Amino acid sequence: MNKKEYKSISFKSGNERAEFYDDRLNFHVYVMTIWLSKQIKEKYNKDIWIIVTEVFRTREEQRRIYGENTEDVSPHEWWNAVDISVHNLIHVGIDPDELVRLVNKHWKYGHGKYKCAIRHDVGKGDHIHLQAYPGTTKFVDKELHRRGKEESI
Ligand SMILES: [Zn+2]
Repeated sequence: MNKKEYKSISFKSGNERAEFYDDRLNFHVYVMTIWLSKQIKEKYNKDIWIIVTEVFRTREEQRRIYGENTEDVSPHEWWNAVDISVHNLIHVGIDPDELVRLVNKHWKYGHGKYKCAIRHDVGKGDHIHLQAYPGTTKFVDKELHRRGKEESI
């Protein structure tokens, strides 16, 4: 899959950029992130870049955040999640909680009671965590999903 690079998405560093365009990243969460950047532009009429702060996380990094004995496996360890900064959004008057509601209105996680977007701070700063479950995540808006796929290939 040749993923097109999006100007409206920027990255904390080259590592996150490489991981975001890596084939291992869950396709739904990749499309979801691009979709969100377009929603920001359309709904708020703001030409603001989404800043991706984390994509893949190793087991060691997970232990550093949650403790040595953690059994919690983060979707980041499975390439199923993308974190985006809220600070630059707040700075231009966008409410991150509104974006979280917007994502969850249009995207269905499709497994358990989990949602596709949550806002939290797990010790790495306030951010929006986007996640998808392999194979079961459904895009509620089929038209946008189709467009998202066409545009990302
Ligand atoms: Zn996260």
